[in-house]
Amino acid sequence: MSEKKYRFETLALHAGQPVDATLSRGVPVYRTSSYLFKSTEHAANLFALKELGNIYTRLMNPTTDVLEQRVTQLEGGAASVALASGTAAIFNAIITLAEAGDEIVSANNLYGGTYTQFDSILPKLGINVKFVDPKDPLNFERAITDKTRALFIETIGNPVLDYTDVKAIADVAHRNGLPLIVDATFTTPYLLKTIDLGADIVINSLTKWLGGHGSGIGGIITDAGRFNWKGGRHPLFTEPDSNYHGLRWAIDLPEPLAPIAFALRVRTVPLRNLGASISPDNSWIFIQGIETLPVRVARHSENALIIAEHLAQHPEVAWVRYPGLKTDPSYALASKDLKNGFGGVVVFGVKGGYDAAVKIIDNIKLFSHLANVGDAKSLILHPASTSHSQLSAEQQLQSGLSPDLIRLSIGLEHPDDLIEALDEVLQPEGTQKESWLSKLIKK
Ligand SMILES: *Cc1c(COP(=O)(O)O)cnc(C)c1O
Repeated sequence: MSEKKYRFETLALHAGQPVDATLSRGVPVYRTSSYLFKSTEHAANLFALKELGNIYTRLMNPTTDVLEQRVTQLEGGAASVALASGTAAIFNAIITLAEAGDEIVSANNLYGGTYTQFDSILPKLGINVKFVDPKDPLNFERAITDKTRALFIETIGNPVLDYTDVKAIADVAHRNGLPLIVDATFTTPYLLKTIDLGADIVINSLTKWLGGHGSGIGGIITDAGRFNWKGGRHPLFTEPDSNYHGLRWAIDLPEPLAPIAFALRVRTVPLRNLGASISPDNSWIFIQGIETLPVRVARHSENALIIAEHLAQHPEVAWVRYPGLKTDPSYALASKDLKNGFGGVVVFGVKGGYDAAVKIIDNIKLFSHLANVGDAKSLILHPASTSHSQLSAEQQLQSGLSPDLIRLSIGLEHPDDLIEALDEVLQPEGTQKESWLSKLIKK
């Protein structure tokens, strides 16, 4: 594979899969906890990183290895580490480069779970996160101090889907000697190669479009392999590491391993000792999903644009946000970077506010009411009454979440069926038909 450079669609099907002794065409699932050592010398070499190989499935697994190599090639990175969830991938990435006393500067428009991790959990471990509005990249620069260890952003933010200027924020990071961590879940490498724009560490929740069928939880960290950890800001990479034989990650690794110091530390320090490992069965599910990623995400994006355009002209709709709408505040920036589509999520506000939004969710057909995105099936959520209900009304508004906001994750159904389902519930106050479910509940 390495001599010829295949295109994205081809890599999605073939990258990282060796043909083994059984000649199996599908990727085998290696359901094993551990691996035989050929000799004590072999075992010692594996533990000393003199030789790379399998030791224990908490650390690595041949099925997971195919997933990791495939995502590495799709992202254009140097190495990847798959973990139990996108959330675990974010936590493990942060604690690989920061410890108590350090700081991270992060965009404030984050996925809810990440926001709580940064706002409430990391500070209790001594890692403080400063939140800034990512719309002005210089906000990151103003928040950087001597203690800053990384900048963190999402490609398309929550809850109103603002597109983030990855390149401008990467430039801020690099001129300050810092790596940029990008959560690219909402764009996937099919829509955006964040490493080409300057990302040093890329996070994907495999749970969403990469898996694509709502059938498993997983996450993956990709190391671009080019950040200079010796710049003076990362003692975890230049001082002897008591977690790994006193190794200085940025200094002591042999040449072929030196560029992937970050990925190696993720694997051998937090993954090895905190244990948020992915199961090989889930790795297989995600490999299966990735085979069709380019076809699915293209269709998700096409359908989402059709739905956004329909909602934009609907008399019962107060407003719509979708970065692919020409009238959207994010369109100018997003259309410069996103050449294959704008993703599968659309948000809109309904006339009639909170009560009207709840009524729509309770009555709509075809859309599944649940807290996820990136399924092949269309999904709907009212964040104000669910995922963000723990925030006060004031906090909700501050984060851009209005009480009328409905989030759609547009699936692969025929768009006319989705439009008909939306139109059926988007009707003036008092004229909505009662659903079979609410009739049943009332009886
Ligand atoms: C879902 C999601 C996560 C968390 O991923 P899990 O696999 O659910 O832990 C993180 N970031 C974004 C943008 C997400 O959509």
